[in-house]
Amino acid sequence: MCGITGYIGTRNAAPILIEGLCKLEYRGYDSAGLALLHNGVLDVKKKKGRVAVLASEVQSKPFYATMGISHTRWATHGGVTDANAHPHISSDGNIALVHNGIIENYENIRKFCESKGYTFKSQTDSEALANLIAYHYEYRTNKDTKNRLLEAVRKALAHVEGTYGIAVLSKFHEDEMIAARKGSPLIIGVGKDEHLVASDVLGFAGRANRVIYLEDGQIASITKDNCEIITMGNKPIDLVVNDIDWELETADMGGASSFMEKEIFEQPKVLENAIRGRISDDSSTSVLNGLNMTPNELRQVDRIIFCACGTAWHACMLAEYYIEKYVRIPVEVEYASEFRYKNAPLDKSTLVFVVSQSGETIDTLEALRESKRKGFKTLAITNSVGSTISRESDGGLYQYAGKEVGVASTKAFTSQVLISLLVALYMARMRDLSFSAGKSIVDSIISLPEHVKNVLKLAPQIKQIAKKYAYKHDFLFLGRLGEFPLALEGALKLKEISYIHAEGYPAAEMKHGPIALVCPECPTVIFANTEEIIPKLVSNAQEIKARKGQLIAITDTPESFEGLADDIIALPKVHEAIMPIVATIPIQLLAYYVALERGCDVDKPRNLAKAVTVE
Ligand code: GLU
Repeated sequence: MCGITGYIGTRNAAPILIEGLCKLEYRGYDSAGLALLHNGVLDVKKKKGRVAVLASEVQSKPFYATMGISHTRWATHGGVTDANAHPHISSDGNIALVHNGIIENYENIRKFCESKGYTFKSQTDSEALANLIAYHYEYRTNKDTKNRLLEAVRKALAHVEGTYGIAVLSKFHEDEMIAARKGSPLIIGVGKDEHLVASDVLGFAGRANRVIYLEDGQIASITKDNCEIITMGNKPIDLVVNDIDWELETADMGGASSFMEKEIFEQPKVLENAIRGRISDDSSTSVLNGLNMTPNELRQVDRIIFCACGTAWHACMLAEYYIEKYVRIPVEVEYASEFRYKNAPLDKSTLVFVVSQSGETIDTLEALRESKRKGFKTLAITNSVGSTISRESDGGLYQYAGKEVGVASTKAFTSQVLISLLVALYMARMRDLSFSAGKSIVDSIISLPEHVKNVLKLAPQIKQIAKKYAYKHDFLFLGRLGEFPLALEGALKLKEISYIHAEGYPAAEMKHGPIALVCPECPTVIFANTEEIIPKLVSNAQEIKARKGQLIAITDTPESFEGLADDIIALPKVHEAIMPIVATIPIQLLAYYVALERGCDVDKPRNLAKAVTVE
């Protein structure tokens, strides 16, 4: 969501900034802009639409500068217009600002600035901050102070409620860029005689191999060859410079027609990566040193709360299924956005687990902070090494799934589910799960990549099915037990990228409402891979057919649905532990091919963003 890039150095800044914005495009945005500073002139260009539109504007009216800031906006306050695009310039012409996040008290700040004579050109919350910084620069800082711009930003931010990642220039400071964050990610890239800032390391791929992670409440004054960081309380911070492992951070399409296609088809490898080094020598359990908890500490845990958003929330529902089944302790799954405000009662032996692909999801991050504030051990599953969540959690597990670029999560989901199975196995083997039961789960985990490879071979069949149903207006997805989360995930995937309305339900719940939707225009996808309830699912299927609903069965018992389902996607019979992962593949492919058939942009679906860094 929203991208910030900034550059200060010795080279022409505009192409570097545009290149950075292109690398951040996958995060989702609706307009783009940049500000360049040279000889006291702030040159600003901003346009709604794609970065390519901005790039051609920049090319047609070049402006040479060795420093600048740029932004892709995901509108929160004010429509998608050129005027609302960032950067915003204070009305005295001094300050240029790009902002990611939401200034919650912007109306008060705006009124205050207006009372001091500053004017506004946009409806955004961000412009209020540009003017507030200008006000502090002009009236609240000592004109002779070397750190005048830094001071102005620090003092202005003290009045801000909400979240921000910002980069700031002043036309009076030709050799300084300010960056600050609270809630929204911001990273400083360290190069030779140059510094970059970006809201995601990808923004400086190929340009800097060393980074400084700015933490919440920190403000950086950055020149081409120096970086100083202070706290909001004006205390200096020692710099910690980290190396980046670019192999983990970058991605190309590798011959696929979209990132989503590539990411669906690379799942066998992604699952292998999640397993690698995590199986015990006797193949009866997993080895999860990253949790930073001793077996004894883990045995004390008598309840787990999982917090996440979106697809990761569905992965958490499978974590609940696994842990309750194998570890036999209660699990609750919370939307991170609800958990952070509801003041949930937690017992001293409760463990909190957060799950976020990007490691930057603001609601998940705040849920983590809330439980840490209360003194709870908080662990994380994330795909982004060095992300804020990975840095702030007490321990956790990396997914090593490789960069996920497609906005609709696919490989990150299956890898999160697999890792939660590894967690369940680990904890279960410390309790009541026998050696042989553990071993059979491990065997199934080892066989998983091969099964997924085989199910991916069903792609041509699923493509045909997708063509048949692509122009329906509604879909129902039904599943039970370990397949109920898949019903939710199937509906979400379809909604996200094809814009077809879809709902996921536990199959038996259908009779309590959603059956009213069933008609020839509303097909139902039913998961039926759990042996003991197949007869119940067949009855649900009959109920749908009795109401002229079309039915797609995803099942390892195809014989039960012959003559009943309109289409059958036959899956291999696999161990119950890995079945939910195997059964996910067809719904990803179905959503993907339906979206393609409808001509949708699968990698950048409308209105959506990859890393959701605003509340
Ligand atoms: N709240 C700001 C706006 O609507 C920034 C949004 C963003 O993070 O892109 O302009």
